[in-house]
Amino acid sequence: MPRQLFVTTALPYANGNFHIGHIMEYIQADIWVRFQRMQGHAVDFCCADDTHGAPIMIAADKVGKTPQQFVTDIAAGRKQYLDGFHISFDNWHSTDAPENHELARQIYRDLRDNADGSLIESKTIEQFFDPEKNMFLPDRFIKGECPKCHSKDQYGDNCEVCGAVYAPTDLINPFSALSGATPVLKHSEHFFFKLSDPRCVDFLSQWTQDGKLQPEVANKVKEWFSVRTNPDGSTSEGLGDWDISRDAPYFGIEIPDAPGKYFYVWLDAPIGYLASLKNLLKKRGQNYDAYMANPALEQYHFIGKDIVTFHTLFWPATLHFSGRKTPDNVFVHGFLTVNNGEKMSKSRGTGLDPLKYLDLGMNPEWLRYYLAAKLSARNEDIDFNADDFMARVNSDLIGKFVNIASRAAGFLTKRFEGKLGAVPADGAALLELLRLGHTVVERMYEEREYAKALRETMLLADKVNAYVDANKPWELAKQEGMDERLQGVCTVCIKAFRILTCYLKPVLPELALQVESFLNIAPLSFATITTLLPAGHVIGNYQHLMQRVTPEQLDALFGVKEDVAPVTQARAAPKKVATSSPAVVVSDPNAPGGEALAPVISIDDFAKIDLRIAKIVACEVVEGSSKLLRLTLDAGEKDADGNPTTRHVLSGIASAYQPQDLVGEFTVLVANLAPRKMKFGMSEGMVLAASHADEATQPGIYLLSPWPGAIPGMRIH
Ligand SMILES: [Zn+2]
Repeated sequence: MPRQLFVTTALPYANGNFHIGHIMEYIQADIWVRFQRMQGHAVDFCCADDTHGAPIMIAADKVGKTPQQFVTDIAAGRKQYLDGFHISFDNWHSTDAPENHELARQIYRDLRDNADGSLIESKTIEQFFDPEKNMFLPDRFIKGECPKCHSKDQYGDNCEVCGAVYAPTDLINPFSALSGATPVLKHSEHFFFKLSDPRCVDFLSQWTQDGKLQPEVANKVKEWFSVRTNPDGSTSEGLGDWDISRDAPYFGIEIPDAPGKYFYVWLDAPIGYLASLKNLLKKRGQNYDAYMANPALEQYHFIGKDIVTFHTLFWPATLHFSGRKTPDNVFVHGFLTVNNGEKMSKSRGTGLDPLKYLDLGMNPEWLRYYLAAKLSARNEDIDFNADDFMARVNSDLIGKFVNIASRAAGFLTKRFEGKLGAVPADGAALLELLRLGHTVVERMYEEREYAKALRETMLLADKVNAYVDANKPWELAKQEGMDERLQGVCTVCIKAFRILTCYLKPVLPELALQVESFLNIAPLSFATITTLLPAGHVIGNYQHLMQRVTPEQLDALFGVKEDVAPVTQARAAPKKVATSSPAVVVSDPNAPGGEALAPVISIDDFAKIDLRIAKIVACEVVEGSSKLLRLTLDAGEKDADGNPTTRHVLSGIASAYQPQDLVGEFTVLVANLAPRKMKFGMSEGMVLAASHADEATQPGIYLLSPWPGAIPGMRIH
């Protein structure tokens, strides 16, 4: 029976670009969603910008925009990240959209008018007011010491250290983050959701403890229900009522029948999940109410551990007591640290800039694979470690998996017209073992145990590589009369590669697409791998599926290092970045110069590159760099007054040439390459040189030069 799944990730606050913590969560959820789709289930995967609240109002004001314009501009920047990392949302919406205004107001009315007694109550409270800015202070703009764990510098609504949720007036030594002033208390009427109502307490103690939540999450939540004495002697009261209103000026949704009062952003933010879904269904011409009324509908939210309270108390209670479906589960993940640095939280900075990652031409699937290799179903922090990243991608993903195809496909296309042969008996046993692995792999994906799913897959890849090493197709290829054996061994490899690709497809969707095209097969799913490709099936030409990570790329990602300039590419087309980066290639002994040909380009593409003859008029070593030479080039250029000018180009050819040997020589300059600022100065172009992809065994760099007669400035066509 196909399942009907509604899946969301936490709504990012629309006051800035995504950081790597967002991307990790999207990748985690996307892998699960893609797995479910591969199983034939219907998934609607939705998210939206969380747009309301005083912080956005204040940020917009600072840059002279309306809040609406501010969040629209932020939303426009989302696509490059989501497409860049292959996140397959069905819809991206906004909590300021009409669907959310409508739903939030209706849910509020339903809570207020609950037949068994209203769950909304108004109380006059004392609230912090900034006497210098002349406004009530939003929670996030009051800071002070956490009343529970006494951590300093915590926000007014929620402690990032112990996770406690409290009122800003509970903070010890509060101060205004806007002006630094000590806030004063002023009276105001506020609306509360009565979380302390026995109906809520009963419902939530059941809902949070019925076994669906991760055990460590359920245990944490349990603490919030109990009356207890804190180490400092104060008492915690269990569930308290939740203040859901804010006074004007506020960017948000006005509360029905209460002019000048707005919903606190955390009331309408999760409703944005439903609003995004409703918007998606409207686009498709489907009825939202009918969709939600389906008893088989499953609803899941992927979130970070800093917003557990909102999603396990307020959100299910809001839904339940307004007569709506509650989530089937909330999947909580830990924080991502980078190189053992500080945590990536919702509100604070980042150490690994996801856009820079894409701009450097780094393959998004490297990151997907690496994060998947570390993610489990537990709410625990994971660390991005640069060396570990490189090792896992290069040794596991490429060394163990991708290489299976590159080792076998060439022989089939060159010697057997791409035709698969009969599977030898030893190979049949291996393939059977691989097929049997699907039960474990599927269960691990379903349970969000991605690290285990990949470990299982890589153990199977090890077995395939052992088979290759035992049969040595490259030696069979040289022996007389071994054609059938060679074709059989390579056939086993290709069939095995197809199964492994299926197991990795939720993590590596683009690579799987390339493999499906290269193998000439229908889209892979776990259901299809039980059928093997028949003998005589013809595969296409093998093309490089993935390049290796280089230390230079990681250096560039995490800071300035010599010799590496970012590969500037159009952000709108990150896929091209990954395949056309000149920085790295995986060495392939069968390809010319050790590397496969780059994808075909048009004559128009080529015409964009302006190559000119240049004379090296001076050359010197670069102090502090073992790789670079600084070339002064005459490319026939003149300044406005008609005086000859030269250019400076930094080139990584110091290992091959002495500076004095180059002076007076002619070479080829990429004359319209954007100048790049490098650690050792500006480089105004690039000179052309040749090298083999396998630098280790075939070293050498050879500068290009024209035949005699060419003069500086001539264009190369
Ligand atoms: Zn605390």
